[in-house]
Amino acid sequence: MNAPVPALEGDPRLIRLSDDVYVFGTYPYSGLIVTDEGCVAVDGPMSPQNSVLWKEFIDSKGPLKYQVYCEHHSDHAVSAPLLEPEVLITSETTALGLDSDEAAREAMRTWGSYPDTAPEFIDAFKMRRPNLTYRGRMNFELGGKRFTLFEAPGHTMGSTVVHAIDDRVAFIADTGTTPAIQSGNPVSWLTTIALLETLDVDWYVQGHSDPLKREDLHYWRTKLLAALDQARADLANGVTPQEVAERGGVLSVVELLQKPFVGRGDMPPGLRQAAGTTLQEWGVDRMYEAIAAHPTDAPGAALGPGLREIV
Ligand SMILES: [Zn+2]
Repeated sequence: MNAPVPALEGDPRLIRLSDDVYVFGTYPYSGLIVTDEGCVAVDGPMSPQNSVLWKEFIDSKGPLKYQVYCEHHSDHAVSAPLLEPEVLITSETTALGLDSDEAAREAMRTWGSYPDTAPEFIDAFKMRRPNLTYRGRMNFELGGKRFTLFEAPGHTMGSTVVHAIDDRVAFIADTGTTPAIQSGNPVSWLTTIALLETLDVDWYVQGHSDPLKREDLHYWRTKLLAALDQARADLANGVTPQEVAERGGVLSVVELLQKPFVGRGDMPPGLRQAAGTTLQEWGVDRMYEAIAAHPTDAPGAALGPGLREIV
């Protein structure tokens, strides 16, 4: 008999960014940093089958000490019951926005449904709640490696970026090129990206497409700014959210979003329909609200004066 094949071996969705950093290019893209004292997972698959596969892969690298949910959207926040981290971390804002058990089951039965998931699994599904939350920024060390987590408002107001300092990677989830701003603020998103561009990293791992280099992230920021300009013109011309949604939404013009990526095949079949007009209309609402306020009203990722100022 042949020896069993290790999980994800030879699978094109497994991306190795450096010696100790892996990305599972599924829906959403899920990160893993391996250290001598255990692993740190960032987000995790929405598909239970893929979570089981990812768990098997993680177990082959070491115990899962920490998992971070980067945002409250259901696709990022249903894998912990299967990945079983010792500690689940989110920002306080994200913790408050997480689905109820029933809302998560509903997402798994509708827009996020996978044909290979047993209905009994969904019926019995319970959310795992974070047992560590933070506000602003938090730092920890594992296996001699430094991690800085910080709030990165934009795509959602409680989004977290995981900066794996010694591995030179930032996990930015949907702060990357995700055409969905229904829970966020475009001005916050823009200032967050500007901050991300200053990080000393080689890679930005995003939620729904392949990892980005800094020039890609910079390009994305210029496109998001162009979308804000477009929204300003639309608002002045009395274009309704419905009309913008029919045109394809506020971010439909970004060609970066059209690039092929390894995780495309893992998107839930019902997603396209659910991500249609209503979500896009809400996205226009968020754009118009941000335009109606002064940009300084938008929450930013920066923490303000630190200890250095105190003498
Ligand atoms: Zn999201």
